[in-house]
This record gives sequence, C-alpha cells and structure tokens, in this order.
Amino acid sequence: MKIPYFELQSAYQELKRELDEAVSRVVSSGWYILGSEVEAFEQEYAAYVGARHCVGVANGLDALYLALRAMEVGPGDEVIVPSNTYIATWLAVSYVGATPVPVEPEMLSYNLDPARVEAAITERTRAILPVHLYGQPTDLDPLLQIARKHGLWLLEDAAQAHGARYKGQRIGAHGDAVAWSFYPNKNLGALGDGGAVTTNHPELADRIRVLRNYGSRVKYVNEVKGVNSRLDPIHAAAMRVKLKYLDEWNDRRRALAAYYLEALQDTGLILPQTAPYAEHVWHIFAVLSPERDALQKHLAERGVGTLIHYPIPPHLQAAYRDLGYKPGDFPLSERIHAQELSLPLGPQLRLEEAEYVVEAVRSFRGSVVDSR
Ligand SMILES: *Cc1c(COP(=O)(O)O)cnc(C)c1O
Repeated sequence: MKIPYFELQSAYQELKRELDEAVSRVVSSGWYILGSEVEAFEQEYAAYVGARHCVGVANGLDALYLALRAMEVGPGDEVIVPSNTYIATWLAVSYVGATPVPVEPEMLSYNLDPARVEAAITERTRAILPVHLYGQPTDLDPLLQIARKHGLWLLEDAAQAHGARYKGQRIGAHGDAVAWSFYPNKNLGALGDGGAVTTNHPELADRIRVLRNYGSRVKYVNEVKGVNSRLDPIHAAAMRVKLKYLDEWNDRRRALAAYYLEALQDTGLILPQTAPYAEHVWHIFAVLSPERDALQKHLAERGVGTLIHYPIPPHLQAAYRDLGYKPGDFPLSERIHAQELSLPLGPQLRLEEAEYVVEAVRSFRGSVVDSR
C-alpha cells in the first residue's frame, strides 16, 4: 500500500460536480477580481465562524500582515509570538517592521503558554499573536485578560484551525482579529492561495478592506499606501462549496484521530493531547519520538508518507540570524522541532489506510512497549 501524507485529488473527486459548477460560474461571469462571489463567501464565512466581518485576502501571511497594519503595529514595536510555530507567524511581524518576541509553549497542547507571556511584555509590546497550532485552540481567556490589562491587541493565527472551538465557541472573533489561510491542504482550502481576516471590530475590517486594495475605497483615490492582496472569486466560489462540508470533514478527521490515539497507545510515542477547553480539528496529527528520523525512514520504506511540522524552529532559521538567537534559547520549541512527526490524516483517508499506518508504526523497533 502507498499512503501519501496528503493528496488533494480525492477531495476534488468527492465534490467534483459542485466544484466544477462553481469554477465555471466564475469563468463564464467574466468577473475575476473581488465582486459578488467574494462578498458572498465573506458573509458565509463570517457567519460560520461567528464574527461580524470577514475580509478575503490573497493568502494567510497577508491576513496576518494586513491585520497588524490595521492595528498600526510597526517599526520599533514588539509582538509576542509562539517560539513553536510555522515561520509565517513571525514573518508577518517582521513584514510590518516590528520585532517578534518568542514565548515558549506549554507541552500539553504545544501552544503558547499564557503563564509565560507577561514576563515577555515590555513598553514596546503592542500585540499578542497566538497560533492555534495543529488545529487545537490556544487557551485564549488568560491571553485576553493579559491583553486587556496591558492594552495590547490580540491577533490569532487560525491558519490551522478552521471550525475548531474554544470553550464551545468557534474560533473567529475571540481576539481583536483572526487571520486565516486557505492554502489548499488546510482544513478549508482553496484551489490555490487564499486567506481572510475575521473580526468584530468594524474599523479593523474597514482598514483591512482598504489596505488589501491599494489603499483605495474609490477607484484611483488612495487613502493609504495599501497593497494588492485580494481573494480571487474563483477561490471564493470553490470555498463556498467546501464550507458546506467543513464540519463533516472535520468530523472525519476527528474519528481518524480517535482511532490513532487508541491504536497507538502502547507504542512509546508521545501522542497529542486535547485540552479540556478545546475542540480540536486535527489539521495535523503530531506525535513526538526521540527516534523521529528513524521512524520517518521506517514508515517511508513501507510507503507511508509523513511530514515534520516543522524541522527548524523560527529562531534558528537563517532568516532570523539578525535576532541573534542560538540553540538552547527555546528548549521546549527545539524539542518539539527535533521530535515531531505528522502521520497521514485527512477527510479522504480511509480507515484501512489508517490501519496500515498503525501497523507500520507498530513494526518500528522503537515500539518497544508492545502489550499485545
Ligand atoms: C499556513 C500557515 C500560514 C500561512 O498561510 P499561507 O496562506 O501559506 O500564507 C500562517 N500560519 C500558520 C500557522 C500556517 O499553518
């Protein structure tokens, strides 16, 4: 059997008729920038996540960047970010000219540890930027409390958490703004790049709407130095189809995750845990193993594709040499990066395939504790 880490054809095949209809509707409309299809998606997605406003943009990095710009975070400012995240979270902060200030995760969820945040706040801090990593919401209430107490913005990176809930309420408007990516393999994915910001703040939504379109509200009248970062109608139309299936597809992910958790219990791997406040959407099924590289090779030899999310922590990337960090500065994040392995999991993965993955893991020499 051959099980790729993920492939997108089977998702397309499942919705082929509806997706083809949506795409050809846009193509034949002759309207290719913004317009009614994007507006309809924005309304439907805002309603889905429980936010008053949604602004579609070109990708997830831009969603973060434009939200920070709308918050007027800029040069000389600091933004608290997780030490353990995909580098896009940091890059958005650098992009506005501010400095990312990393804070370590708590090891239950691998998300930003609220208990460590206050110690990182200085008079330059303007925002806290937690990430709902792997599809599990960060503990938002303590972060909201800290943000309020210190007069900071709270911007959430929800690129991996479409449909996830925190204390029963969907991620989408707990903080001041929430940034989304619709990169094709995300839980809600476009047919190319896409992104959005959701928020309950009318001024933030308005500023992002203007910034994404050359800083212009009225054609050829430019209020601010904006950018070109618009969600394409073709992606909006495709996602209007996929949004209807998001909950069902997240349920399938949840069922596979439950199966993995049960079937891999006695393998010696450190399995993902779900915090009591979180409803996880399993964008990534992340296990930790001190023998990660050997396990990955073992699985590859048996046709099981895996990925590492992520191999190098942001503070040790060449891109962030300028911040002067060295190995050992963020040991928890470094440990996750050294040991993490993501098993195949997606709405189109069949149970037989997951069973094959489990067998392949169990046949690894590292699986010493076998109680069967
Ligand atoms: C995917 C992702 C992004 C960036 O999204 P793009 O659409 O690829 O720009 C940002 N943050 C996290 C945590 C992501 O997983």
